[in-house]
Amino acid sequence: MASTTQVKTYLAHWFQLGKKLIWNNGKAELLPEKVIQGDRFTPEFEACWEKVISIGGKDCYLEGSSATIEDLFSSAWTIDQCARCAMPVPVVEVGTQPLDCACSDLDNWPNTELPAPRSPVSSQAQLDNISERLKTKK
Ligand SMILES: [Zn+2]
Repeated sequence: MASTTQVKTYLAHWFQLGKKLIWNNGKAELLPEKVIQGDRFTPEFEACWEKVISIGGKDCYLEGSSATIEDLFSSAWTIDQCARCAMPVPVVEVGTQPLDCACSDLDNWPNTELPAPRSPVSSQAQLDNISERLKTKK
């Protein structure tokens, strides 16, 4: 079973590569334009995440993936790193692993020339930096 943080990170990483979230079995497609702003997720991404969580991820899945978000929260699935591209991917905990990775339909992926998707960085170091700079200004 994947944790909330894992699932959130999973969506954030794939959104950064332009993968869409299929909402309600195809009734809509969600893709926040910007996922990360400085050291935090954008309000746009948070709103999208809230929307997914509000229905327990039911019938929502990442384009090209066979696991719904609801599945990821079940004991049958977890999230691990893709062997090919190190992106977070759904993995079956018990049973047969489907061979398709969400990255397999991206022609230009893995791509070392693109900035790798990431999580927001901790702001503590940055804050320390700023307060140091303010101190030396006096
Ligand atoms: Zn992959």
